[in-house]
Amino acid sequence: MTEIRTFGMFIDGAWCEASNGATFHSVNPATEEIWAEFSDAPAEDVDRAVQAADRAFREGPWPKMSAAERGKVLRRIGAAIEPAAEELGLVETTDSGKLLRETVWQARNLKEVYEYYGGLADKVQGDIPPSPQGAPLQLVVREPLGVVAAVVPWNSQLHLAGFKIAPALAAGNTVVVKASEDASAAIVEFAKVIEAAGVPPGVVNVVTGGAACGQALVSHPLVRRVSFTGGVDTARKIIPATANNIAAMSLELGGKSPVIVFDDADLENAVNGILSAIFAATGQSCAAGSRLLVQDGIYDELLARLVDRANSIRIGDPTDPETQMGPLATKAQRDRIERLVAEAVSSGGRLLSGGGRPANRDRGYYFEPTIVAFENQEAELVRRELFGPVLSVLRFSSEEEAMDLARDTDFAFAGGVFSRDFAKAYRVSRAVPAGRIWMNTYRQTSLMVPFGGSKNSGYGREGGIDAVRDYTQTKGIFINVSGVPTPDPFVMR
Ligand code: NAD
Repeated sequence: MTEIRTFGMFIDGAWCEASNGATFHSVNPATEEIWAEFSDAPAEDVDRAVQAADRAFREGPWPKMSAAERGKVLRRIGAAIEPAAEELGLVETTDSGKLLRETVWQARNLKEVYEYYGGLADKVQGDIPPSPQGAPLQLVVREPLGVVAAVVPWNSQLHLAGFKIAPALAAGNTVVVKASEDASAAIVEFAKVIEAAGVPPGVVNVVTGGAACGQALVSHPLVRRVSFTGGVDTARKIIPATANNIAAMSLELGGKSPVIVFDDADLENAVNGILSAIFAATGQSCAAGSRLLVQDGIYDELLARLVDRANSIRIGDPTDPETQMGPLATKAQRDRIERLVAEAVSSGGRLLSGGGRPANRDRGYYFEPTIVAFENQEAELVRRELFGPVLSVLRFSSEEEAMDLARDTDFAFAGGVFSRDFAKAYRVSRAVPAGRIWMNTYRQTSLMVPFGGSKNSGYGREGGIDAVRDYTQTKGIFINVSGVPTPDPFVMR
């Protein structure tokens, strides 16, 4: 019997539980045991968090701080992450099943995210457009927006939250973060980092709960900006919710990203790219390359190599450094993926590898690396985001056909192209609807390169320099410098 850990919430610089005592549990997906209990924040607690953030935005030390001082606060957050990285990684792995070596790496890497945006805090400048002598002086100043609601999913949550919190703070906003009910622990633990860094009370608040908590937050009248990462169905509920507060919004949603491999590709390189595109993080990545398009000439050889490698992936305990693929995060996800794969195979999909639960795992939400070949893109498995280790494969003969297949999707998040012909790979990259393309590689990333999608993959970009400006708005100021009083407009001269 595992001891159940209790996690609170962080509101206005203090730790608390839900005011009505409501809680929910989290299951360790590797063991199927309940391991943690969280506060299930009712709307009153969300209101308290937003009020605290609003107060911190208007009063207290935060709005009086210079941009350079805010930058120092962000760098202090970065410094406080380092000693906490192991623990942050461990709770995230226990909660979500993501490999420990990845969660610890991501926690450490977060330091750079806060340092980067700390460095940008005092570089967000306004403008003075040209004006003739005697005309009013025109200033364009950049101001923060106010309270930012950051709603995040359970996968890579610290990282994803970092790409919202860091630029929002750098620009002078305050934040209320809502962790995912499927894995809240790492975000709650992160509030200890905020505390250790001496961030003023109310500047960063963390609430936990499910959809009701999220709705209360995104529709709150004092929220000025919603930054959401999650699924498209949830986004469809958040968009109307912001009719209440007319908050600005960015939506980082899912994908069904194509990976296109031409006859002239380096096959070993392509196989490694495909494996990392779909089986890294057990396929639970917004950028997962889940639609493989292969040219006729290499189709058989590439698939033979790929299936061989997929079958040898070591599935197991996510805390074991030898493990290559951990479990899915939730039972609901495992059951859904299992059903969709079975349906696809019974209606004509050709199962090349995996397709079910690994034989040697009787506990945990494990699912085998799965590859299914199709004749066309009509099957649901090819069209829907699964968020799991399932690759659908199609073949093509010409460059035009590859482009048509790549474009035939409701999503536009990412994509990969493998070819030794640079000009062709570049042409195809430009034709693929996506916010990010990898050529002859996959999954590499940098905090300096923006990411985001369009269509059902959302809108807005995170990462990079512009993210700070994205958390500001301009104000135009006209100043009479003519030395002449403003004439009475109703007196004819
Ligand atoms: P989800 O949409 O179910 O939940 C995301 C968050 O929204 C959770 O905190 C949840 O509690 C909250 N939420 C749910 N209903 C809400 C409502 N009505 N109002 C306000 N908030 C609500 O997503 P998930 O299953 O946790 O995560 C998987 C999804 O996230 C996938 O689609 C994946 O592609 C996407 N994702 C996108 C990116 C990206 O950067 N684009 C990164 C990671 C994950």
